[in-house]
Amino acid sequence: MKISELKKDIQTRLENAGIPDAESDTRIILREIADISLSDLFSDPDIETDASLDTVKIEEVVSLREKRIPLQHILGKTCFMGFDFEVSPDALIPRPDTEILVEEALKDYHDGSKILDLCTGTGCIITSLIALMNDCYGVGTDISDAALGLAGRNADTILEGKRDRLEFKQGDLYSALGEGEKFDVIVSNPPYIRTADIDTLMPEVKDHDPVLALDGGADGLAFYRRIIEGAKEHLVKGGDLLLEIGCDQAEDVMKIMETNGYIEINCIKDYAGNDRVVRGILPLL
Ligand code: GLN
Repeated sequence: MKISELKKDIQTRLENAGIPDAESDTRIILREIADISLSDLFSDPDIETDASLDTVKIEEVVSLREKRIPLQHILGKTCFMGFDFEVSPDALIPRPDTEILVEEALKDYHDGSKILDLCTGTGCIITSLIALMNDCYGVGTDISDAALGLAGRNADTILEGKRDRLEFKQGDLYSALGEGEKFDVIVSNPPYIRTADIDTLMPEVKDHDPVLALDGGADGLAFYRRIIEGAKEHLVKGGDLLLEIGCDQAEDVMKIMETNGYIEINCIKDYAGNDRVVRGILPLL
């Protein structure tokens, strides 16, 4: 069979299962399971598949994906900021949108910064920051022990020699920390879906991401109120708070920051042009 035919077969099956970006998933399956790269597909679509092609494995992966199980769960990993993160149903699958938050935080760090990541999940945000920064120290907190197990394993494999620069602590937001413990930067991608909207999400999300990682309360803003309020105790004066938001939440989240006395509040868009990150600074006085 030609590799272009194999691609077409898989893609058609995924399209028929109603998967929105069937082509992208097909490419990942071909790369991960059949060792066929994007450049092979473009430059040599007519070459025949290798005799060693693991058709049983391909069938297994495609049929699980047809059942709308996220490809990341089937493969057990996803790429975030260029690093391979282990994923499981214990924590939200890291999204490309969240890379905007990491990139924003990277713009502003200085050597020796102490960074806190609330609702760390797989640890994708704080682990990437520590991996990409020099001489910084991070803490990730999460209410879920199972998520922290995953985060710890990700940090072990991604950080290697820098592993001692990152600690994970179990607890509900700041309750995991010591009283008055201060950070230069606080980041978070908290649960922000309105409770009533969870049922309307894609099956990959509503049936496979933990509801704990999605549910932001009746108006979706419950975590922002608690994080913004609590950061006043845990940020140094002049420290930075960066929050990922849902694309229709910028105005509300900026308002909560304003009411709490933050300054230089602004909103950063993602590459699709949607509002994605709100940031503010705790004033010096
Ligand atoms: N911080 C993690 C992420 O961005 C988990 C976020 C969450 O559980 N809401 O992927």
